[in-house]
Amino acid sequence: MKVITTIDEVRDQVKAWRNNGESIGLVPTMGYLHEGHQSLMASAKKDNQRVIVTIFVNPMQFGPKEDLASYPRDLERDKKACQQMGVDLIFCPSADEMYDANFNSYVNVNGLTDALCGKKRPGHFKGVCTVVTKLFNITQPDRAYFGQKDAQQLAVIQRMVQDLNIPIEIIGCPIVRESDGLAKSSRNSYLTDNERKAAVCLYQSIELANTMIAQGERSVATILSAMQLLIEQQSLAKIDYIEFVDLSSLKPVSQLTQDTLCALAVYIGKTRLIDNFIYHH
Ligand code: AMP
Repeated sequence: MKVITTIDEVRDQVKAWRNNGESIGLVPTMGYLHEGHQSLMASAKKDNQRVIVTIFVNPMQFGPKEDLASYPRDLERDKKACQQMGVDLIFCPSADEMYDANFNSYVNVNGLTDALCGKKRPGHFKGVCTVVTKLFNITQPDRAYFGQKDAQQLAVIQRMVQDLNIPIEIIGCPIVRESDGLAKSSRNSYLTDNERKAAVCLYQSIELANTMIAQGERSVATILSAMQLLIEQQSLAKIDYIEFVDLSSLKPVSQLTQDTLCALAVYIGKTRLIDNFIYHH
């Protein structure tokens, strides 16, 4: 497994694989890897002859009051997690390697980024789309793998690839959870023991919603207030948003009469966690 920090070296390796006719799968990450990331690597490994994992905590997608400085990092552990999955190349550039002093070009997807996390994190998806486009151009993969955990990100990337005719197949992968249901996340490492216990309320609210839906409930207002009530019982939790939106437009819906994404963001102490589920009509 190669660990590379420069764009030129990645290009050389990619060219050699391409000359051999080998297919390439890309898994973009911010590191501090867990089984969620590894499930993406496993899918990439299954579909492609070569797998590239990128590890880059992208400053452009963090707001000024967000956790860029404290975001967890452990490259040595990440190397082992990648090695274990048979990854061929890790690209872990510095911020200077990705953004030179005169950098001034951006990729913006409109509409889909107005909802959900886009509303709460201005500029976030501009940063994501810009860095993902750069990583696509640097690694030129056949396929790229993204988690359903970041449902809006997946929808935005799919839109971007379609709109800009980027010749890469985007593969969405299911959410990997802890045994109590908490979605795995690098940010779970911020949680104290008590917060970790409280954090299960996100998943519990999803389970409650699914139980109500199974019993025939279709009113968003009714399901939403039950979810809110459950989370508000947890004193360490503070809801940032819970929204039901049409899966393709990400516009709010009031009834579950079409494919619907229910996405939520909840602060557990100072840590902002996200989760979601999809209702298929
Ligand atoms: P991150 O390092 O948090 O930027 O995540 C990198 C990729 O891994 C994104 O496509 C995420 O959606 C995906 N991912 C993160 N956590 C999970 C999870 N629990 N299950 C599935 N995919 C995940």
